[in-house]
Amino acid sequence: MDQDGLMFPKEQKVKKKRMKHPHSILHEKNGTCYLCMLLNGSYKKYLFLDEHHIFGGPNRKHSEETGLKVWLCLDHHTMGLLAVHRCPDTMRLMHWIGQQEYEKSHNRQQFIEIFGKSYL
Ligand SMILES: [Zn+2]
Ligand SMILES: [Zn+2]
Repeated sequence: MDQDGLMFPKEQKVKKKRMKHPHSILHEKNGTCYLCMLLNGSYKKYLFLDEHHIFGGPNRKHSEETGLKVWLCLDHHTMGLLAVHRCPDTMRLMHWIGQQEYEKSHNRQQFIEIFGKSYL
């Protein structure tokens, strides 16, 4: 019997930081792209979608913990002209929507405490 093998998982469990992974508060995972729905009124279902965290960089983990993420088709995520990672207007729009949604259940101050500033 390998003692180390038994010890390892316990140690890992203690060290690992607890992080919440709630579902998106904006978008159900059902194969649709959030921006196809929003911009094109299209409920087309995709086989491949990317999970997009609305507030990126150092705020990515906060987006994860607050459920501020959506599913996007590749065109709307990175490839197309209006892709959120290519088009500053789309990025602004998503920031705006994300904060609005968060503030349905929290106040402005709570948002700023987590994300550092208001995007509205
Ligand atoms: Zn799309
Ligand atoms: Zn993204």
